[in-house]
Amino acid sequence: MQQIVQPVAPQVVVVQPQQMLVLLDDTPTATVCKYCNKSIITNVKYKSGSLFLIVCLFYRLICGFCLIPFCVRGFKDAHHSCPYCHKHLGIYTRK
Ligand SMILES: [Zn+2]
Repeated sequence: MQQIVQPVAPQVVVVQPQQMLVLLDDTPTATVCKYCNKSIITNVKYKSGSLFLIVCLFYRLICGFCLIPFCVRGFKDAHHSCPYCHKHLGIYTRK
């Protein structure tokens, strides 16, 4: 008796790049870029967020001017990006 051997289709295994969950804060953070997969320390740019506007209004009402929040980095949101591919990686938002 002859056995018929069916050709077995090769299995295709798709390996997804692992997304590392790294909590971003307001300083440059060591992580792996999810776009270029390099080990990086993020570039951080500080931009005005909602807390910044609230603090501006507060200083405006109390002091009559609102220059202080512009000098304090702690009131701004931290926008993280990759130093190699320059893609946006995330935002640390003030609460
Ligand atoms: Zn990158």
